[in-house]
Amino acid sequence: MKLNLPYRSGTVRVSSAYGTRTLNGVPELHKGVDLVGSDKTIVAPCDGWIGLAGFANDAASGGKTHEWGNYIRIETEEGYKIYLCHLESVSVRERQKVKAGDVLGREGSTGKSTGNHCHFEIRKDGKSTDPTPFLGIANRIGSYPVTVQTSTGKNTDYAGLVCEKAGLEAQTKAYLDKYKYASDLWRKLWEAMQ
Ligand SMILES: [Zn+2]
Repeated sequence: MKLNLPYRSGTVRVSSAYGTRTLNGVPELHKGVDLVGSDKTIVAPCDGWIGLAGFANDAASGGKTHEWGNYIRIETEEGYKIYLCHLESVSVRERQKVKAGDVLGREGSTGKSTGNHCHFEIRKDGKSTDPTPFLGIANRIGSYPVTVQTSTGKNTDYAGLVCEKAGLEAQTKAYLDKYKYASDLWRKLWEAMQ
């Protein structure tokens, strides 16, 4: 299974890797990766359907996932369950089919969370697994560009990268996007910035 980063554009920072980590002196298994997007719009990382869209914030209920706040579970034909958690808002319904790139909601900080991020977890047969090989990124803190699906295939979102690095506003991006050769321009600008 191959997954896109679950963000619409720009860059995504891994703020906490998958695996054992120590919080307040207590080692625990972090069962997913924590992602922070420059664009807060969360999109489907693959085709599938929404198995669950709920809110979990009550440890007293006995729920093992009470820390997740607003979360979505995407299910795939291969039997993977993909969890996206701490969302500010959810814009899909349970049993809805989704295609890679469809908007699911917005990154947030609901549930047990100390700042905006998306806890991204994959389970197969009830067991969590390192999601980074599926996402094509390293399992360590770092920043990665989002690739976006277009009619001609998968492309790096150079416009998002340039706007983030140069601090350009949305209006400036919208203005430059009207230029006939905008995609070439963004790519050249990004290359010139390296
Ligand atoms: Zn997490």
